[in-house]
Amino acid sequence: MTVKIRDVVMVGAGPSALAAAVYTTREDIDTVLYEKGVVGGMAAITDKVDNYPGFAEGIEGLKLAEELQKQAERFGAEIEFGDVTELRDEGDHKVLVVDGEEVKARTVLIATGSDYNKINVPGEAEYYGRGVHYCATCDGAFYRDKKLAVVGGGNSAVQEAIFLTRFASHIDLLVRSEIKASEVLQHELKEFVHEGKITIHKGTTTEEILATDGKVSSVKVNQNGTEKEFKVDGVFVFVGLKPNTQFVEGTLDLDTSGLIKTDAMLETSMPGVFASGDVRSGATMQIASAVGEGASAALAIREYLNELKRKK
Ligand SMILES: Cc1cc2nc3c(=O)[nH]c(=O)nc-3n(C[C@H](O)[C@H](O)[C@H](O)COP(=O)(O)OP(=O)(O)OC[C@H]3O[C@@H](n4cnc5c(N)ncnc54)[C@H](O)[C@@H]3O)c2cc1C
Repeated sequence: MTVKIRDVVMVGAGPSALAAAVYTTREDIDTVLYEKGVVGGMAAITDKVDNYPGFAEGIEGLKLAEELQKQAERFGAEIEFGDVTELRDEGDHKVLVVDGEEVKARTVLIATGSDYNKINVPGEAEYYGRGVHYCATCDGAFYRDKKLAVVGGGNSAVQEAIFLTRFASHIDLLVRSEIKASEVLQHELKEFVHEGKITIHKGTTTEEILATDGKVSSVKVNQNGTEKEFKVDGVFVFVGLKPNTQFVEGTLDLDTSGLIKTDAMLETSMPGVFASGDVRSGATMQIASAVGEGASAALAIREYLNELKRKK
């Protein structure tokens, strides 16, 4: 039996791939998306999205994800559940392994996103989105004049703690060992410490996130062997990202964080394979940009397919 070669296979069905699928299917480009978790990706598990343009009052993440899915399906996108574990270049087409089965495609869009690393302490999962957060740009504005704790001591933790001072009245920066952020950031951080906006707690391991009436109210830590509790209204965790790129390690060029490198057309190091959204090196980790990149990738895919036809 000959296996059909699809015009485009999209890996992941988060906002970026769904937006790309709206564009490709509207132009009758045969499109299938493989999703191993939840259609809508991270957006679908976000309580409220307040910064996606076009929704003046904000929109529930799940609602936004459902609308994106409906729009992509209206034009003919096929959404299948499946875990993509391998990608190979076979000259005139690519092969993807989905749940052990081979799927062939002329072009591929990888939009598998990135997961935030967790600290795995009691309260973290329970109060996710209700006081425990991983994105300052997304959720910082909910904490105007409130007290926050920021967990982490790397570049992203320091950068996000500084950003959060725009909203929060005070931030306890909980650092397990020493601050590992760049010299420039550490210099900037000192100014906020001097102003009393941020207090750095080195040698501090976060042990539990506690809540009162279902809302985060404090964080329990161990500071150099001494148990302490800080009263806070929210906890932002920045202990690194885990891009969903294990299945292309050694196949595509990745940056030092494991994110996929692309050129200006969002094409990866393998011709005909594109990447967009949170999995892409340089991503801003925002829904609006993931959607915008999905649209751009779709247009680049159209050009690539046209070029393939011209060559025939
Ligand atoms: C709690 C939280 C709140 C947020 N709030 C906001 C906000 O308010 N505003 C904002 O702009 N952004 C927010 N974000 C960020 C936003 O959700 C992401 O930037 C956006 O979802 C990225 O879209 P994406 O399509 O690139 O990736 P994702 O949404 O991560 O989707 C990728 C999809 O690919 C699937 N996948 C991964 N690997 C495979 C594989 N091997 N095979 C098949 N499928 C695979 C995943 O299951 C996932 O569904 C928030 C994120 C979180 C976690």
